[in-house]
Amino acid sequence: MRLLGLAVLLLARLGSAQVTFTLDDVSAQIASFQQDLANATLSSRSGLLSGCSLACGFLDFALPSQISYPNSTAFELEQSHYWSQQQELTQPACRFSPSNTLDVSLAILTLRVAQCEFAVKSGGHAAFEGASNIQGGMTIDLVNLNELSVRSDNAQTSVGAGLVWYDVYTQLQPLNLSVIGGRVSAIGVGGLTLGGGISFFSGRYGWACDNVNNYEVVLADGSIREVSYSTYPDLYFALRGGGNNFGIVTRFDLMTFPQGDLWAGSETFIYTEETAAAINNAFFYLGVNAPSDPFAQVILAYAYAQAEDLYIIASDLQYGKPVVNPPILQNFTAVPGAVASTLRITDLVDLTIEFNNTNPGGFRQTYWTLMVENSASLMADMVAIYMDEVNPIKGVAGIVPSLVFQPITTDMISHFTKNGGNALGLAGQGPLNLVQIDISWSNESDDAAVLAAAENILDRAQAAAVAQGLSNPYIYQNYASFKQDVFAGYGAQNLAKLQATSKKYDPAQVFQTLQPGYFKLF
Ligand SMILES: Cc1cc2nc3c(=O)[nH]c(=O)nc-3n(C[C@H](O)[C@H](O)[C@H](O)COP(=O)(O)OP(=O)(O)OC[C@H]3O[C@@H](n4cnc5c(N)ncnc54)[C@H](O)[C@@H]3O)c2cc1C
Repeated sequence: MRLLGLAVLLLARLGSAQVTFTLDDVSAQIASFQQDLANATLSSRSGLLSGCSLACGFLDFALPSQISYPNSTAFELEQSHYWSQQQELTQPACRFSPSNTLDVSLAILTLRVAQCEFAVKSGGHAAFEGASNIQGGMTIDLVNLNELSVRSDNAQTSVGAGLVWYDVYTQLQPLNLSVIGGRVSAIGVGGLTLGGGISFFSGRYGWACDNVNNYEVVLADGSIREVSYSTYPDLYFALRGGGNNFGIVTRFDLMTFPQGDLWAGSETFIYTEETAAAINNAFFYLGVNAPSDPFAQVILAYAYAQAEDLYIIASDLQYGKPVVNPPILQNFTAVPGAVASTLRITDLVDLTIEFNNTNPGGFRQTYWTLMVENSASLMADMVAIYMDEVNPIKGVAGIVPSLVFQPITTDMISHFTKNGGNALGLAGQGPLNLVQIDISWSNESDDAAVLAAAENILDRAQAAAVAQGLSNPYIYQNYASFKQDVFAGYGAQNLAKLQATSKKYDPAQVFQTLQPGYFKLF
């Protein structure tokens, strides 16, 4: 009979918008649940539970069908939706899939009462183990927070935090609308937006975190807040780059703009020093010239093709209008010798699917990153370092090692100060070059060799940048490895602001200690 209390409480809370549970409510209900277990009034389980068994068991009772356990179909299906093998092979005690924001609130308080460690997953594209899955803990999978609605003036789209960008773009494209989001269809809205978020349209609007009008967030005390620049400016600042440190975002209200077709695709070259020099030069001048045309963007990747045993250069060009070969990108298209090209008039859905196909899931993965000043000669030095470190591991089964450059233009950065600014610490800088080391391979037995090579590339590239006076302390959270100190790279002042905001909104430090994965503030 005691457990009826929870049902009554749930119904009462569901009937009143934004009223949530308290820690005391949930503590009392869990005590009652335990008592009934002890009295063996619940037939399915017996004996007292603790830790994650208690958290999983209680939520399974309170919110039937939203908890799944290992070896069940629901559990294994959700486990298969991680991009990297490291995350997929991580086994939580249970997975919880909330169907609404109030469920998330109940879960946070339950986890606190039971002292069960947890992780939160949106699109599951963070590469390293523990980022959005947790061994032996509870993984909150936001997959069912999947609603999307466009405001009647077409200027804002509200997006559930469990959606991936494919879901968003396929619904907006028929309306000739878009938002600032990922360039690969299967990436999650949650992780990309909370870490920064570079889009094909960032020259015009900034990063994803600069284009969230409002966040619906569940805080550590179970309260549900609507966070905008006008409601909670400190928390709003913190969510613009602060990752998973402040709460669980359940809905993002995204600035929305008209968008039609674009001209985009990839040109592939066999690596030669001459070709590399010409393309690096084009990259340098794009950084310089970008303010004349913010519709252009480039992703420049050096990669090793194992089957052919050669290095290639992929020059991914995007122009945000259906204009073939616009002047701003002609330094790239003038480089002779492309062996393949997918450049075409296309649309966002098609382009993000193309990019998704070149980034398959299911492999072991590692990402590392650094930021440097815009310099073609430094790029050449970094490519030489990359090849020097990749050559000894060319034989690793299934290896695909890439060194990727992206111009972070002054146009992009000019939007970083919108609405009180973001937390990234880059305002007023640029043009910069965001460097990413990205390696995938097949077998765990090769982890040590691959990770050592990746770290060496990073350290040596950083040393080269420092030696030439071209280094920058910023570390992009969405590309960082578990070994990198992301928030130190935001600058001492921003880090102090983030830490103060964390203490203010999460005095028990739930998101620092009970959710140990990914990048922490302390
Ligand atoms: C193939 C590929 C392509 C990429 N392309 C781009 C790109 O175009 N632009 C770019 O900027 N980045 C890109 N990235 C990097 C990407 O932004 C990060 O990997 C990002 O973390 C993925 O978000 P996710 O939701 O899929 O990941 P997840 O692994 O689900 O989440 C990442 C982190 O965010 C936290 N988190 C997620 N949602 C929430 C939430 N709602 N509330 C609180 N915490 C949350 C998780 O707990 C986890 O710690 C790419 C990555 C890959 C693998």
